[in-house]
This record gives sequence, structure tokens and C-alpha cells, in this order.
Amino acid sequence: MTHVITTPAHQADVAQTEPIHAALQAKARLPEQHIVDAGFVDADLLVTSQQHYGIALIGPVRPNVSWQAKTPGGYDISQFQVDWQTQRVTCPQGKQSQQWKPTVDAWGNPILPVQFPRAQCRQCPSRHLCTRSKTAPRELTLRPQAEYQALQAVRQQQETEAWKQTYNRRAGIEGTLSQGVNAFGLRRSRYRGLAKTRLQHLLTSTAMNIVRMVAWLQGVPHAKTRVSRFAALAPEPDYV
Ligand code: SF4
Repeated sequence: MTHVITTPAHQADVAQTEPIHAALQAKARLPEQHIVDAGFVDADLLVTSQQHYGIALIGPVRPNVSWQAKTPGGYDISQFQVDWQTQRVTCPQGKQSQQWKPTVDAWGNPILPVQFPRAQCRQCPSRHLCTRSKTAPRELTLRPQAEYQALQAVRQQQETEAWKQTYNRRAGIEGTLSQGVNAFGLRRSRYRGLAKTRLQHLLTSTAMNIVRMVAWLQGVPHAKTRVSRFAALAPEPDYV
């Protein structure tokens, strides 16, 4: 373990990613890749982790949950071609957007609302795949270019076998968490207050590092993944 962070329970995981990177940078312990679970990654962090710290942040991003993405043949955002230079978006029917007005959302994040021509959307034979509005044209809300492209890229990558194999390496941290909980009482705080709880976490992680170092020096093999009694009843496959 190279860093420990202790926060009040209500703080979101995603708010900790950047402070962790900053702390690792201060200790000259920045990794090239940081494999995290879904709670620690968003479009902004995909970009800023690379820009500010040179870290490839690897974690599953939220899939597109729009009805278009869930409808076979539906026109979800990934099927629109965005030309960032000319500030035009081309829809799957080849029509070009007419409005591109950068603004901010309710939380102050920059966004790019895009609208297609009303007349063309009205006559469109594929309208049922694109919008549920009876009269309004299709509208999209894009993130800034770097975030949009990073998010679309990861949404595609995370479906590939190569990405899944890379992400499988994160299983190692689950083993570490399990060891911390089961062998070092990490589930509960022995003390009240953030400062003392943090001290407990620092001491626990130091102890775990020592135990792991000794095990490594003594050549103790890693424990095998435990199999439940029910799962153990399953017959072995008769192929190799
Ligand atoms: S409804 Fe409008 S934006 Fe959607 S495919 Fe048809 S023309 Fe393009």
C-alpha cells in the first residue's frame, strides 16, 4: 500500500481520486495506470488524471442509459458524428445540427446543447428511433471535447477482452481489502473521530505491508480463492 486516505462516510468516492493522485505525486509514487472501481471514475477525471498526473485512469464508466441506447437500432449519442472544428454534429440520417451554444449545467459544468433543424426532424422517416417528442427536433447535450471523446472511447474499450483483462488486475485490491477486514479488523473503527480513525488506518496499512513483505521474503504462496461449499459441489469439467 502506497497511500491511505480516511474520509467521513458520506463523502463520495469520486471526490477522492484527485486528492489521492496529488498525494501520490507529493510522495513521488505516481503510477502509470490507476485501476479503480466505478465510483472513482468520471469523464472529467479520465481527462485530468492524464493531463495533470500522467495517469491512465482505468475503471468502468456508466453505460449510456438513454432509451435510444436500449432500443435496437435506436439513435443514441454514439451514432452522431461530432465535428469539433466546424461545431457541427451530423445525425445518422446525414442531417446537420443548426445550434451549438456552449453553456453550463446546474452544477456549473460546461456543456454543449445541440439542436437539429425542426423541419428536417419532422419529416424524418427514422424519427421514432431518435426522439419521442411529437413535434420538437432531436436535441443532444455534449460534454466538452476532451471529456466527450474520453467517455466515448472508454465506453467502447470496456466492452473489449483486452480492457477486461487489464481491469481484472484490480482483483488484487479486493484481496487486500479482504485481508484488511478479516485479519486486521478494518471493518470497524476502534476510536471516535477522524484523526484517530486515520491513525488506525495508517497503523493497519503499515502492519499489512510488513506482514506481506515477510510473507514475500519467506516465499509464502498466495492463498487460493475460497470456493463456497455449494460451488464446490459443481462437477469438474471433463475437458481441458
Ligand atoms: S430525427 Fe432529426 S436528428 Fe434524428 S435522425 Fe431524423 S433528422 Fe436526424
